[in-house]
Amino acid sequence: MRKNIVAGNWKMNTTLQEGVALAKEINEALKGVETKCDVVLATPFIHLVSVVEAVDAARIGVGDENCADKVEGAYTGEVSAAMVASTGAKYVILGHSERRAYYHETAEILKDKVVLALANGLTPIFCVGEVLEEREAEKHFDVVAAQIKESLFDLTAEDFAKIVIAYEPVWAIGTGKTATADQAQEIHAFIRQTIAEKYGNEIAENTSILYGGSCKPSNAGEIFAKPDVDGGLIGGAALKADSFMGIITAFE
Ligand code: PEP
Repeated sequence: MRKNIVAGNWKMNTTLQEGVALAKEINEALKGVETKCDVVLATPFIHLVSVVEAVDAARIGVGDENCADKVEGAYTGEVSAAMVASTGAKYVILGHSERRAYYHETAEILKDKVVLALANGLTPIFCVGEVLEEREAEKHFDVVAAQIKESLFDLTAEDFAKIVIAYEPVWAIGTGKTATADQAQEIHAFIRQTIAEKYGNEIAENTSILYGGSCKPSNAGEIFAKPDVDGGLIGGAALKADSFMGIITAFE
């Protein structure tokens, strides 16, 4: 059975002290609360060790927001998948639309990052999603299928089974505009079908596919109730413990 997951993506927000305080607040808030999902906090690199120490590993998985596409060596400023794993982090977000747009991460680069993340025991949360013009031109299915095929479909079935997908329409990220629950369901079902065609029904049925894009406590319940939506990747609303908890507890 696939897992429900709610993952917070803190992006380039919070100082170390603020980040640790937020992680502790979420950790406290989860005490005694029964959840229907795994909870992940994806934080800036520099926070990882402290956040891993601050939370109960049985309730919260810690993740990074990126890793390098190289193993090690003379790549000033980069952080390798092995370094991320050595902090105790278990997840890494890869292919976020901000990384694709601002740091020119191509399908090929992402393919290498995915391989390195898996080789170091990290679970990639692999982001896909179309920009507004692509949605308006009804190219979103093709765009998303290409993103998945180009970066993930050289993986063995055993490795693909370790991937979490996050569908994030770029026009909904940080804009306050959310895809409707029906729009999310439509494309999540398409993603699952695309996976099934390559890796078979069992792997497709077991792949967690998260929705991301202006998800908040007021809309999470309706979106998560859709059969092919297995939780969310949350940006802005993950930066406050109460709104993040509102999303974590939004499953019916
Ligand atoms: C994100 O960037 O992953 C995201 C979903 O952001 P927001 O929730 O702020 O739209």
